[in-house]
Amino acid sequence: MMLNGKQIRHLTLPLWKALIKHIAVQKRAEQQLKESRENLRVLAETVPQLVWTTSPDGWVEYWNQRWYDYSSSSPAQALGHRWSQFLHPDDSQRTLKIWHHACASGEPYEIEYRLKDGQTGEYRWFLTRGIPVRDEGGQIVKWFGTATDIENQKRTEEALRQSQERIRVLIESNIIGITSVEMEGEVLADANEAFLRMTGYTREEVQSRTLNRVKITSPEQAPLFERSIQELTARGQHAPFETELVCQDGSRLPVLVGGVIFQEQPRQMVVFLLDNSARKELEQRKDDFISMASHELRNPLTALKMQIQLVRKQLEKHSQPEAATALARVEGPVKQLERLIAVLLDVSRMQAGSLEYRRERVDLDEVLREVTATIHHLHPSHTILVRRSVQTSLIGDRDRLGQVFTNLLSNAIKYSPDAQTVEMDLSASDDAVTIRVRDHGLGIPRELRDKIFERSYRVTDPKRKAIPGLGMGLYIVAEIVKHQGGTITVDSAVGKGSTFTVTLPLNEGCLSS
Ligand code: ADP
Repeated sequence: MMLNGKQIRHLTLPLWKALIKHIAVQKRAEQQLKESRENLRVLAETVPQLVWTTSPDGWVEYWNQRWYDYSSSSPAQALGHRWSQFLHPDDSQRTLKIWHHACASGEPYEIEYRLKDGQTGEYRWFLTRGIPVRDEGGQIVKWFGTATDIENQKRTEEALRQSQERIRVLIESNIIGITSVEMEGEVLADANEAFLRMTGYTREEVQSRTLNRVKITSPEQAPLFERSIQELTARGQHAPFETELVCQDGSRLPVLVGGVIFQEQPRQMVVFLLDNSARKELEQRKDDFISMASHELRNPLTALKMQIQLVRKQLEKHSQPEAATALARVEGPVKQLERLIAVLLDVSRMQAGSLEYRRERVDLDEVLREVTATIHHLHPSHTILVRRSVQTSLIGDRDRLGQVFTNLLSNAIKYSPDAQTVEMDLSASDDAVTIRVRDHGLGIPRELRDKIFERSYRVTDPKRKAIPGLGMGLYIVAEIVKHQGGTITVDSAVGKGSTFTVTLPLNEGCLSS
């Protein structure tokens, strides 16, 4: 409201009062506007970003001090459109295009570009956001913007991208099949080239998430996988184990599998698979050879044994005792050869799953008595102390069970050359019988305690070098015990001795077929 001098002179008192009040209100509003501008300026100078404002057509009217410090420029060099000379040449065209589009459309925008550091001459990445400020009528009165330094973030992203790329190259160029598996449902989420080549599945099949453990392994392998999952859950990784995969064309591929937990939430594991078919084929050829050789050796040996017995009897009949005694000496090595061949035949049949087991009632106490008597006869160097005997009978194969204890006692004596005794004790509960064979001999290093039950495995330390063996005994023992539905474990201290513990179920229902 504007009044001239004459009007003012004629104002009445109430009007004077109203005029004074109006002027006071206007002053306060001006003061508030000034304060809020000052607040905005302080804010713009305090924030860690570069701050700018432009006229509606994009002419830069204001940069905060941070801009001048960063670019080492003066207002004359940076206001208006001149700031664009600080853009990286590769970003310039793209940036100006977006900026002109925003000015023309009035739409807020966001863009990443590099700005030159005036002190070092190097460029750093910034994230810039611009928003239009409008008046009550919706007209743009200015643009307000900030530019945030994101150079460190960019470098981290780039380093991450490069390391991901390197990992990808490593994974893809590997001869080991690698898959990632979601623990929930055991679904394959990704796989490398080697896995796809080994199994014949396509990347699309893997990525469609239709391949799970049930689909790519056979049901008889399930217990192996379930055990490995338990181990993974407990320790974050599982020991490698041999198994088979069902390939895309239905064929089976022998593999060695190892896995680790790779990620929580959602829980994922990475599985490594090594094609084991060449090794399995070699093993098969070796088994075939052993089986063939032991069959081929057995028949002439049986004929030889019978001939020796016949000739010996004839010599005795014709009163030639010296020649008969000399011939009898040959019988010992022939029997030893026969035992070795029997071991090889047993192993071959176990491998082929063709070893036959009888099912009969077995008086275990009697079997142990017979075995200890035979062993004592063969190895008089050691006393066998049977600590306790219980009358126990179970259903099984008498000879095979005898073989278990013969092997354990022979080993106990064989591997305790400096001891005089080995001990055996028997205890029974309602549903199981436990037999322990203890010696005071060489002992077995902890890390080998599972390996000694493997086929052809022998511990090779200097102390055992002179002790003969095929490394088949404990394998046969473990197979028989397993077939009987039982377990075998070993407890040992190197230099002090070992205790083998066999537990057999008394429940007939536990017998394997
Ligand atoms: P072998 O006795 O023919 O070598 P086994 O399968 O019976 O084969 O045993 C495997 C390995 O386990 C042996 O080479 C031996 O080193 C070790 N071993 C078995 N029994 C004992 C024992 N009672 N004490 C120490 N080592 C043993």
